[in-house]
Amino acid sequence: MKTDVVIIGAGLAGLSCGLELAEKGRDVVLFEARDWVGGRTASWDENGMLVESGFHRYIGYYQALPHVLARAGVQLNDIIWWEERVEIRTPQHEEPGLFGIAPVHGPLKMIASLIGNNHLLSPLDKASLIPFFVAGYTDFFLNPNKLDYISVYDYAKKYGVRRAAIDYLLVPFSTGLFFRPVKDYSALAFFGLFAPGLTRFYKMRIGAFLGGMTEVMCAPIARAIERRGGKVYTGTPVQRLLAENGQVVGVMLKDEAVRANQVVLATSMDKAQQLLKPLFSEHRWFKPFLNLPTMPAVTIQIDLDRPALPTDRTTFGPGTCLASFSEQSRTTFKHVPGRLSIILTPPERFLNMRPEEVLATVVQDAKKLGMDIKPHIRDFRVISHHADFYSFSPTGYHQQRPGQQTPVQGLKLAGDYTKQPYFATMEGAVVSGLDAAKAILEGR
Ligand SMILES: Cc1cc2nc3c(=O)[nH]c(=O)nc-3n(C[C@H](O)[C@H](O)[C@H](O)COP(=O)(O)OP(=O)(O)OC[C@H]3O[C@@H](n4cnc5c(N)ncnc54)[C@H](O)[C@@H]3O)c2cc1C
Repeated sequence: MKTDVVIIGAGLAGLSCGLELAEKGRDVVLFEARDWVGGRTASWDENGMLVESGFHRYIGYYQALPHVLARAGVQLNDIIWWEERVEIRTPQHEEPGLFGIAPVHGPLKMIASLIGNNHLLSPLDKASLIPFFVAGYTDFFLNPNKLDYISVYDYAKKYGVRRAAIDYLLVPFSTGLFFRPVKDYSALAFFGLFAPGLTRFYKMRIGAFLGGMTEVMCAPIARAIERRGGKVYTGTPVQRLLAENGQVVGVMLKDEAVRANQVVLATSMDKAQQLLKPLFSEHRWFKPFLNLPTMPAVTIQIDLDRPALPTDRTTFGPGTCLASFSEQSRTTFKHVPGRLSIILTPPERFLNMRPEEVLATVVQDAKKLGMDIKPHIRDFRVISHHADFYSFSPTGYHQQRPGQQTPVQGLKLAGDYTKQPYFATMEGAVVSGLDAAKAILEGR
């Protein structure tokens, strides 16, 4: 087979790249290893239970993703359920804290949460966060790399953030989002994730998906690519890159070579490293990326005979293994009476645990947060991501992330691990895919 552009991986990066190129009249073929599209934003049937890669929240300031969706014929408000508040539950407090996160869409709730929640954070605790955020955003804009060598915890200590504010606010907004313990979570990642919200604060709010993400978001993008003449093959893993005279000229499938003018490597990070290593392990440009460590993620998804919580809402469980979670039976998984999707921390603890043990640990910790789910469990699945993310440890790793444009002719990179301003998020994946497409369209 011969084509113009081969894209390896049909996650959001590969799909966005494919849509952009197909719209511009380029011949694109996407090869996806799994039997469904979506990658880390996929939903699928896992031995009789509908699961997702992990519960996701759309952040209101995203720009590239909604644009891609609109071009695929998907209107954001048809697939997103907007939340105006998030909840923080702790083993130490009977009453949860409720925090408004939508300054324009829910200003009163935001103000109420700033002056309220005193059972969780005293006025002094809240005030102790001010110097931390002022210094953090000053450093973020003036000297970002410095922030990648210090953990959120150490940075908070340096600026005098009080214990309760660390435990009940900074932990949810770091560990709760990217699973790593606060002492091993780069301050750069912490401030960077919220930075785009500073200039687009009026857009700030978060949303749950109204349906499995493959169904409502990724499959429509794949169909839009095919409507424009592109091809998307699922269940078709790329085995290796084909190279001639230091140039990438195609890919090798199980028993077929596919030649192409351009190859976009849009897999998750460890898979990209595996495909690049045989060819470029000694290449100066690739070396930092090939040495960039990964980090895992583990989620558990539980079907229940009734909702675990009165509202489907993003909830954090600092002080327990439930980094973040949500009831989803009224939003994403309406076909079951109750559904909890939980992201676990620290992921390494759960990676090689038997699923029954994971469930038992979660049931115990859920009880500490006021949720007695044991009698109501119908089914559950543990979904692990062994090495999909680049590491958020505070060791300067951010600088090892590669750009989309490589020095090798015929090869572009896309994926949330590549350098773009949105870190490891859906928006970051889309931006990287569009950047790779742009480089191809501009003949770079
Ligand atoms: C539990 C969890 C929660 C998250 N929560 C959020 C959130 O709330 N908000 C947010 O914005 N982001 C969130 N993210 C991050 C977001 O999902 C990712 O940043 C984004 O989906 C990455 O997209 P990608 O296209 O770069 O990579 P992926 O989605 O990983 O896509 C890569 C694709 O390449 C395929 N592939 C790999 N090897 C091969 C091969 N050899 N041949 C062919 N195909 C191959 C894979 O199967 C996969 O489909 C979360 C992620 C996880 C895991």
